Amino acid sequence: MKQSSLFSKTQKFNPQDEESLNAKLLLRAGYVYKIMAGVYSYLPLGLMALKNIENIIRKHMVAAGGSEIYMSALHPKSAWEVTGRYDTLDVLFRFTSFYSRTDYVLGPTHEEIVTPLVKANVSSYRDLPISVFQFQWKFRDEKRAKSGLMRGREFYMKDLYSFHTNQEDLDDYYEKMTKAYTAVFQELGIGDKTVLTYASGGTFAKYSHEFQMITDAGEDLIHLCEKCHVAVNDEIYEEQNTCPVCGEKNLQPIKAAEVGNIFKLGTKFSKAFEMKFKDQNGETKEAIMGCYGIGVSRLLGAIVEASHDDKGIILPEGVAPFKFHLIETKRGLGQELYEKMTGEGMSVLYDDRDVSAGEKFADADLLGLPIRLVVSEKLGDKIEVKRRAKEELEILNYEDIRKL
Ligand code: ATP
Ligand code: MG
Repeated sequence: MKQSSLFSKTQKFNPQDEESLNAKLLLRAGYVYKIMAGVYSYLPLGLMALKNIENIIRKHMVAAGGSEIYMSALHPKSAWEVTGRYDTLDVLFRFTSFYSRTDYVLGPTHEEIVTPLVKANVSSYRDLPISVFQFQWKFRDEKRAKSGLMRGREFYMKDLYSFHTNQEDLDDYYEKMTKAYTAVFQELGIGDKTVLTYASGGTFAKYSHEFQMITDAGEDLIHLCEKCHVAVNDEIYEEQNTCPVCGEKNLQPIKAAEVGNIFKLGTKFSKAFEMKFKDQNGETKEAIMGCYGIGVSRLLGAIVEASHDDKGIILPEGVAPFKFHLIETKRGLGQELYEKMTGEGMSVLYDDRDVSAGEKFADADLLGLPIRLVVSEKLGDKIEVKRRAKEELEILNYEDIRKL
C-alpha cells in the first residue's frame, strides 16, 4: 500500500485528553481515532492489526473444532431476566425504545443468547458436544475507561462457548482450549510474556484460568511462580499463597493485563434456560458448559504497552499491518522496488509522500512495522535494512530481502 493513500495522518505530539500510553501511541500513529473515553474508531492500519490478531485466533479456534457464528449485539431484556443478570450486572448498558417502550440490552457477553440458540438445535446426546464462537464488539459500562484500548466501553472480543454431555468431556475440551490459547499467544509473538494464571472457579470448578500478559500498564496483580511459569491471581493469593502446580511459596507479585479467560460454567446457564438433552438411557439432563474469551482489542493495546520505545510502537510480525516499511530518500526512487515486492506478494507500506526524509524516518519508528527498507541514490541497487526492534543497519541485495 502507498502511504499517500492512507488518509490518517501521524501526529508529533501526544493527545492531551489521553492518559494511557497505548492509546497515545496508537492515536499518534493514526491506528485509531478517539470518539470518547473507552470508544475508538479503527483506521486502516489499526483495523489491519486488529484483523491480523483476529485471524490468528480464528485459525486456532477452528483447529480446536469451533464453528464460527455471529450473534446479535442487541439483546431483549427478557433474555437477561432469565438469569437475573438484568438487575445485577453493573456493566450492563440498558435502554428503552422510543417508539414501543420495549427494553433492550447491549451485549456485554453472550451466555444469555448462545444458550437458547444451542437449545433450539439440541435434543439428544448425539447432538453434543457443540463448540461455537464469534468475534464481536461488546458493550460494557465500565466505571473507569482510562487504559486506552485495554479497557473499552465498546471493545472487540472472541467468545467461544462449549456444550457437553458430561464433566469429563468438558474437562478434555477445557484442556484443548488451554493449549489452543497458548498457541494463539505464541503465534502473536507474546508467548514469553503471557502467563497461565489460576483464578477463582466459581461454584462449579476449583479454578478458572486467566491468560495474563505481563505489563506495567495492566490493571491486575498476579503472583508468579518463576519455577513453572504459572501464576495465581490476587483473589486466589489471598486464600492460597503457594503455586498450585509445584507448591512453591516464593511467588513474585507482578502487574499484568488479562488478555484471555477460560471458565467452566457447569449447568448455571443450561439450568436457567432449561437447555436439556436425552442421554443414552433416555434420561433428560442439562448440558454442561464452558466459556472461553479473548480480548482482541485489549491485545492490541497490551502489545503496544509491552513493546515500544521512546520513538514509537514496535509490532510483532504476526500483528503488524505490513511487514516492510519502504522509504525513499528522493521522490519516486522506491517505486520500482515497491512494485517488484508487491508483485511477489510481499507485504509493504511504501512511503511515497512528499515529505522530508527525516519525517519519514520518524514516522516509520512511530508506526512500528517490523522491517524498514531504505533506497537512495548513494546505495544504487542495494537496500538498507533495519529491524524496528534492533539498532543494526545492514546493506542487502534484493535476493536477501526476499528471504527476510
Ligand atoms: P476484567 O477483569 O479485565 O474486567 P473480565 O473478567 O470482565 O475482565 P471477561 O468477561 O472474561 O473479562 O471477558 C473476556 C476477555 O475480554 C477478557 O479476558 C479481556 O481480555 C477482554 N475484556 C474484558 N473487558 C474488557 C474491556 N472493558 N475492554 C477491553 N477488553 C476487555
Ligand atoms: Mg470486567
